[in-house]
Amino acid sequence: MNYARFLTAVSAARQISPIRAMTDLLMRSPPSTISLAGGAPNPDTFPFKSARVTVSDGSTIEIDESLMKKALQYSASPGIAELISWLKNLQKSLHNPPTLTYSPEKGQMDMCITTGSQEGLAKIFEMLVDPGDNVLLDTPAYSGILAALKPLGCNLIGLPTDQFGIIPQALKEILSRWEPEDAIRPESKCPKILYTVPNGGNPTGASLTTERKEEIYQLAQKYDLIIIEDDPYYFLQFNKPWAPSFLSMDIDGRVIRADSMSKILSSGLRLGFITGPKPFIERLVLHIQASTLHTSTFTQIMALQLLEKWGQEGFLNHIDGVIHFYRTQRDAMLNSANKWLSGLAEWHSPAGGMFLWMKINGVQDTHKLIMLKAISNEVLLVPGSAFNIDSAEPSSYVRASYSLSSPEKMDQGLQRLASLIIEEIK
Ligand code: PMP
Repeated sequence: MNYARFLTAVSAARQISPIRAMTDLLMRSPPSTISLAGGAPNPDTFPFKSARVTVSDGSTIEIDESLMKKALQYSASPGIAELISWLKNLQKSLHNPPTLTYSPEKGQMDMCITTGSQEGLAKIFEMLVDPGDNVLLDTPAYSGILAALKPLGCNLIGLPTDQFGIIPQALKEILSRWEPEDAIRPESKCPKILYTVPNGGNPTGASLTTERKEEIYQLAQKYDLIIIEDDPYYFLQFNKPWAPSFLSMDIDGRVIRADSMSKILSSGLRLGFITGPKPFIERLVLHIQASTLHTSTFTQIMALQLLEKWGQEGFLNHIDGVIHFYRTQRDAMLNSANKWLSGLAEWHSPAGGMFLWMKINGVQDTHKLIMLKAISNEVLLVPGSAFNIDSAEPSSYVRASYSLSSPEKMDQGLQRLASLIIEEIK
């Protein structure tokens, strides 16, 4: 892989800040070292001393005075070493990336911690997307990613999807506008990256099958594409065994994977982690150094304390509980949808995630229905147009979330939606 060819001029120009380099050096120095170099504040002056956090199983996490000093201090830009090590072991168990065994010239796998996966993704795009580039992504698309991509001045090429995600034949047809050799000719504008949400898509709830992933990976090899695997709903797959990830099939080192703790530990902690080829992770870390410096040390310590206490087995047990919750919620929403919306709307049962994506029969554009009528009838949903590359383009879909409402509220909400549709189409 020639990683340099994928980098934007901005990313290629990033250099290590001398102060951050010194901080990283200090962190690796023996305790006997006398440092007069650091610009960090003295944590003895901070008002927080220690913390005890109660975990849902009744146990506690202790952050004693000495750990608190560490938690409140600046830390290394890639993330704190112990957390990275824990998460690398997790990636090895779950995905066993073939790139782990790679020679350095082919690019080893590496990882950095980000402030939610969103920060990582936005920085990945800044690293890889130049104005005028063609970028492939599944549509309808996660609106947060459209917000990150659109200002970069690229041309978004939407990939048609169904309940099993990107349709490989459609991807093949789109790519047939180019020859594989065009990949190395920048003026050809052959796409360099493909962004996809492989499980429990937001908004569609779609999950890619293994066969489709294999086909897509082969096309990525043919056209030398980088696959950006944005997988925050990986841990919310309802059926086991979980589908193999793109990372797990990445023999070339062409996958950058974004994971998120938002749906399983806490969205407010803002904790994500990016796994991918070392040369890309290095660039991301330089961007982190120049922007946030690092993800909150306190957040990382909190998460690490819990993960170390649980071990991988405890972590996966916790996830089973989370899956059970969302599966039950999904089933409740499907029951209510069957009860109120049969004949009025169409949907597929999502195999993961937290969204039901419904096509409203006889309504060309759900925007007015949702933004005016539904709101005044006290039911909130998201109109499908919010997930179109061009949000002015009409959509006959709506996204309903089964995350926060009780089964009773979901039932009432869908009943209200049904009345609105009946009124609209009569
Ligand atoms: N990608 C997708 C598909 C999402 O749905 C979300 C959260 N809404 C994110 C990324 C961002 O997640 P995080 O909280 O980890 O930043």
